[in-house]
Amino acid sequence: MGQVVAPCHVQRFCRRHAACVRGGHGMSDRSAANRRPGGDGMKYLIIGAGVAGVSACQAIREKDAGAELLVLTEEQFPFYTRLRLPDLVAGRIEPAKLVLKDAGWFDRLGIELRLNTRAEAIRPDPLRVIAGSEEFAAEKVLIATGADSFLPPVEGSDLGNVFTLRRMNDALAIRARAAEASRCVIVGGGVLGFEIGEALRSRGLEVTVVEIAERLLPRQTDAGAAGVIRSLMERRGFEVVLGVKPVRFIQSGGEAEAIALSDGRSIAADLFIISAGVKPRVDVATASGIKTRRGIVVDDSLQTSLGGVFAAGDCTEHKGILYGIWRASEEQGRFAGLAMTGERIAYSGTVRSYRLNLLGTTLLTAGMIEPSGN
Ligand SMILES: Cc1cc2nc3c(=O)[nH]c(=O)nc-3n(C[C@H](O)[C@H](O)[C@H](O)COP(=O)(O)OP(=O)(O)OC[C@H]3O[C@@H](n4cnc5c(N)ncnc54)[C@H](O)[C@@H]3O)c2cc1C
Repeated sequence: MGQVVAPCHVQRFCRRHAACVRGGHGMSDRSAANRRPGGDGMKYLIIGAGVAGVSACQAIREKDAGAELLVLTEEQFPFYTRLRLPDLVAGRIEPAKLVLKDAGWFDRLGIELRLNTRAEAIRPDPLRVIAGSEEFAAEKVLIATGADSFLPPVEGSDLGNVFTLRRMNDALAIRARAAEASRCVIVGGGVLGFEIGEALRSRGLEVTVVEIAERLLPRQTDAGAAGVIRSLMERRGFEVVLGVKPVRFIQSGGEAEAIALSDGRSIAADLFIISAGVKPRVDVATASGIKTRRGIVVDDSLQTSLGGVFAAGDCTEHKGILYGIWRASEEQGRFAGLAMTGERIAYSGTVRSYRLNLLGTTLLTAGMIEPSGN
């Protein structure tokens, strides 16, 4: 994949070479090694090495053995599973065991993986991706930037012992803090809030879950199932507080010592986790003038409003739907990869389903929950 180091101009790129040399700048050794036989294949650039980005890589490689593939990820780890981050918090597993595709896998498929590299924007005519002082030329680009934890506007959310869980580094930070904590409040009674709470209970912490809705897991369950979950959790030693809003963190010496709630109560703890949903990462798209609503708007080919640029996974909005689940990201990544190679495909959506293991009871949810709770 072509790499230009400033002050090279991407317009000087020649389609026959992975990078044109100007002023002494040439292609990286890894780029050279990763060029497929023939060396002048189609250039694909994937932003994000999560399940959507990696599924797209696999689909592209299946269809286009000679393609040049470059993956940029801002994280320091190759592709890993977020689903087991709570196990890392619990101390049941180490980071290396979460890695699903390591650097060797990318090498074997002839894919250049750039860790610690954040894409900022995409520019058209010719298509290129800006990352710091570098510009990468590509013929097709996939935005697979996922999502971030949503932070509700609660004063004090930036205090040192208030965390969210989305990345490996978040899990490591929570684990380190949990080693010296005894009491935790989790803001958000969804699936993830439960999983983090369960991990912390297994470490011996007292855990209170605070949920704004009148029932737990409001996005996955109806009222009956939520009642069963509540009693399972209470049996496991959780305290559950429903129908209250967090108002602010009460601080002392740069750390939160309690959370004040809308009913006038405050709950003291030495560790706080906010698990209040996710917000799609649309920053690259907006910086590039690509159409977004809540997510990056894509059509049935996962194509965005900018020619040659596709999007897949948690960052996207397809027919008004943001899925926020692994399976949908995997499917969208695969569809996008195929579409990028020129396959005529139509993504028609993914059935939402969730499986949660609750203290020996398996909860499987599928479909949509009506606002009434039915
Ligand atoms: C703790 C936890 C548990 C979960 N459990 C489940 C579960 O049980 N079942 C389920 O279906 N789903 C679950 N999910 C959700 C699931 O993990 C996501 O739906 C899935 O990871 C989305 O994949 P993605 O590839 O779209 O995005 P991500 O996995 O978020 O990957 C996107 C990557 O892009 C990187 N990136 C973002 N912007 C840039 C940029 N500008 N430049 C370079 N890199 C960038 C990000 O750092 C990230 O590494 C869970 C999530 C978490 C956090």
